[in-house]
Amino acid sequence: MAGEVLVLCEQADGKLKIISNEILTKGREISATLGTELAAVIVGSGVEPLGQELSNWANRVFVIDSPQLASYSTDGYTKALGRLLTEQQPRLVLCGASSQGRDLVPRLAARVKGGLASNCSDLKVEDGRLVTTRPVYGEKTYAQVALKGEGIQFVSIRPKAVVPVEPEAPMGGEVVKMEADVAPEDIRTKVVDVLKGVEGMIELTEADIIVSGGRGTKGEEGFGCVEELAKELNAAVGASRSVVDAGWKAHSYQVGQTGKVVSPQLYIATGISGAIQHLAGMRTSKVIVAINKDSEAPIFKVADYGIVADLFKACPLLTEEIRKLKAQQ
Ligand SMILES: Cc1cc2nc3c(=O)[nH]c(=O)nc-3n(C[C@H](O)[C@H](O)[C@H](O)COP(=O)(O)OP(=O)(O)OC[C@H]3O[C@@H](n4cnc5c(N)ncnc54)[C@H](O)[C@@H]3O)c2cc1C
Repeated sequence: MAGEVLVLCEQADGKLKIISNEILTKGREISATLGTELAAVIVGSGVEPLGQELSNWANRVFVIDSPQLASYSTDGYTKALGRLLTEQQPRLVLCGASSQGRDLVPRLAARVKGGLASNCSDLKVEDGRLVTTRPVYGEKTYAQVALKGEGIQFVSIRPKAVVPVEPEAPMGGEVVKMEADVAPEDIRTKVVDVLKGVEGMIELTEADIIVSGGRGTKGEEGFGCVEELAKELNAAVGASRSVVDAGWKAHSYQVGQTGKVVSPQLYIATGISGAIQHLAGMRTSKVIVAINKDSEAPIFKVADYGIVADLFKACPLLTEEIRKLKAQQ
C-alpha cells in the first residue's frame, strides 16, 4: 500500500471511538484528493469484529489483535504499529489528537523517521502538498504548516474538528489480519487498574454540550448546581484547573492547556475567570456562554453570550427553564 493514507483508529471496550469516524472522514477526503487508497488500522484484543465495521469506511483494514494489546501501552502499540508502517510505507498517517494519539504518534514518527504535525484543526492538499492548520500561542492564532520530505508524514487531528460522515456506499474494504509480534517483556508498564467514569457520563472530548465550573462554585457542594444544569442539557461536565487542584473534581474533568482540549457546539463556563490556559482548551467551541458575577472577567471577551450573575442563582434558574421547555415538547 505504499503511498496511501492510513488512519489509526481508536476503540474502547470493543467499540469504535467517535474520533475514529472523524479522522476516517478526513482521510477519505485527503485520499480522494491525492488519488490514493484509504487504509485503516485497529489495534487491541478481540477487535476482529471492528475490522468488518471499518471495512465500510476504508479500502483496506489492518487488524492487529493480541492479548498483549488489550490495554493501551506506548511500548506495545509502538512496536505493533511501527512494524506495520515499516512494511506498508503509507504516505500519510492520520490519528486523533486524543490522549492516546498525543502519546503514541510522536514516538511512532520518531521510530520511522517521519514528519509530524500535531494537534491540527485542519488538513488540506495544496499543490500536491499536505498543509495543516495548527493553533499556536495558546489558541490565539493559527499557523499553516506544510509537511515536506520523503518519509511517512503524521498528522494528529483534534477531536470534533471534523464532522463524521459515512461513505455514500460501504467501501467493502479488504480486512487483513496482522501478526502482533509483541511479547509481554516488550511492555515496560503494567496497567494496574482502569478507573471508569460514572455510568452514563459523557466523555468531554466527544460531547456536543459541556457545562464547566470554576473556583466560583466554591467547593464540591457548590459544584452540584453545575452538574444539575449539565444533566438537564444531557451535557458533559468540565472543570477549571483550580477546581481540580482543590480536589473538588478529578483531573479527567479539567479543560485547558494541561487538561482536555474540547470543541463542543455549546460550552457553558460558570464561575470561571477565563485564564489563557483555560481558554486554550475551549476557545474553538462553536457557542460560548459565560456566567460570572464579575462583568470584567476575561471569559466575557471570548463569550458569545454573557450572563453577569451569581452562578448559584443563574444555574438553578436555567435548569428550571430547560426543564419547563422539555416538558412542553
Ligand atoms: C502551566 C499552567 C497550566 C495551566 N493549565 C490550566 C488548564 O489546563 N486549565 C485551567 O482551567 N487552568 C489552567 N491553569 C490555571 C489558570 O492559570 C487559572 O489559574 C485557572 O484557570 C483559574 O481557574 P478559575 O477560573 O476556576 O478560578 P479563578 O481565576 O479564581 O476565577 C473564579 C471566577 O469565578 C467568579 N465567581 C466567583 N464567585 C462567583 C459566583 N458566585 N457566581 C459567578 N461567578 C463567580 C469570579 O468572578 C472569577 O472570575 C494553568 C496554569 C499554568 C501556570
